[in-house]
Amino acid sequence: MKPVFALVGRPNVGKSTLFNRLTKSRDALVADFPGLTRDRKYGQGVLGTDNNEIERDYLVIDTGGLSGDDAGIDEYMANQTWLAVDEANTVLFMVDGREGLTPADHLVADRLRKAGKTVYLVVNKTDAVDPEQAKAEFYQLGFKDVFAIAAAHGRGVTSMIEKLLEKFPVEEEETIPEEHADSIRIAFVGRPNVGKSTLINRIMGEERVVAFDKPGTTRDSIYVPYERDGKKYTLIDTAGVRRRGKVKEAIETFSIIKTLEAIKQAHVVIMLLDAHETITDQDAHLLGLILDAGRSLVVAINKWDGLDEYAKDQIKVKLEVKLPFLDFADKHFISALHGTGVGHLYKSVHEAYDSAMLDVPTARMTRILQTATEAHQLPIVATRRIKLRYAHQGGSNPFTVIIHGNQTNRVPGSYKRYLMNYFRETLKLKGTQVKIEFKTGE
Ligand code: GDP
Ligand code: GDP
Repeated sequence: MKPVFALVGRPNVGKSTLFNRLTKSRDALVADFPGLTRDRKYGQGVLGTDNNEIERDYLVIDTGGLSGDDAGIDEYMANQTWLAVDEANTVLFMVDGREGLTPADHLVADRLRKAGKTVYLVVNKTDAVDPEQAKAEFYQLGFKDVFAIAAAHGRGVTSMIEKLLEKFPVEEEETIPEEHADSIRIAFVGRPNVGKSTLINRIMGEERVVAFDKPGTTRDSIYVPYERDGKKYTLIDTAGVRRRGKVKEAIETFSIIKTLEAIKQAHVVIMLLDAHETITDQDAHLLGLILDAGRSLVVAINKWDGLDEYAKDQIKVKLEVKLPFLDFADKHFISALHGTGVGHLYKSVHEAYDSAMLDVPTARMTRILQTATEAHQLPIVATRRIKLRYAHQGGSNPFTVIIHGNQTNRVPGSYKRYLMNYFRETLKLKGTQVKIEFKTGE
């Protein structure tokens, strides 16, 4: 079982602060994509990257805050919180150590006890007080394990996470069969009913599925290796499609956690949208997760059958208006039910994969940076012009550009976006995001 921690508590106790610390919120990619709303925020964290320790990863869900009164205006936020609690296996119930115990904390505690999850009490903001003393009054809430931390300063956070992770045995990860280690891993992602199972079944029905019913593959196996036109792929099944004889059935319910895992494991994510429905908040949320993870993306608008030309035009316009930030990804109009357009997805998958995995020498990266800054000068800040000296590739999937220079923290967001697009166009990158990181110093 993968550790999934939900942060729950009254507003202002420090949930977001702890969330950011636990997930070390990277260079917030989301900030570049306005309009992506999120009521529950999911993040990935990792412990033990130093000293060659075993890395442990975990997921964190930040929630909106509970007042203890789940009715009325707080109902929506409360519902979102309880959905997060459902998805988590551990709840970190946060309280404010500076403010002390409040009646609302009691109400939240009562509700949490009924949720049947493992709950740890986390007393935050103990930076200016004695941690032991701060903890004392909260024991009356009835939770055995109480941690004192200062999320804003990081005190107590690592040791708390270490203790929490001890409860989760290190699992052996399910591996892809060796002969398929070099395959392109594709995850199909989308909200319930967009047609994931239909599409996966179609692909499995048509292609040579290598290890699907192989003995030893567990029931929960999510990796499905297959071949198509002599090329190897591994399908990551989030829909829980199982095949028993000729009966194809979809079991398991939709889970954000599973989706997140699939996104993380994939090289390329195929995001399904339903042509018969409007683009919902849930679609936008899922897209946000894919963008956050930096994965390559191909968009498939499914159920393209049975639509007249007018309806098709409307959908195309709506896509451009609502999801303008997806212009880097190929879009395909398909019918999983009839198989129309499904084969065309592969060309985009390959382009996205090749782009995300491209290896560019430092000399070339620096040359591109130079032409970019010559074509469009950097602004002058505090009488000195910002200087970007050289660039090199920092990683793949997403394609990451590291740029060294002076005053790089003052590079305007618009200039950063210009550089992203410049690198994308010059290197003819398709389907992959381009991530830019600045480093200051000579
Ligand atoms: P949330 O509403 O529960 O997500 O709370 P936030 O994370 O937004 O934090 C609320 C306020 O408490 C912010 O002003 C934080 O800077 C502050 N805060 C968070 N953690 C600490 C802490 O450890 N010590 C102190 N003194 N303040 C903190
Ligand atoms: P999932 O929840 O994302 O796995 O979605 P399903 O594959 O279970 O599909 C949900 C419903 O949409 C089912 O009734 C499917 O038959 C239907 N469906 C899936 N793909 C298509 C399609 O391309 N065209 C049409 N018209 N219906 C589809």
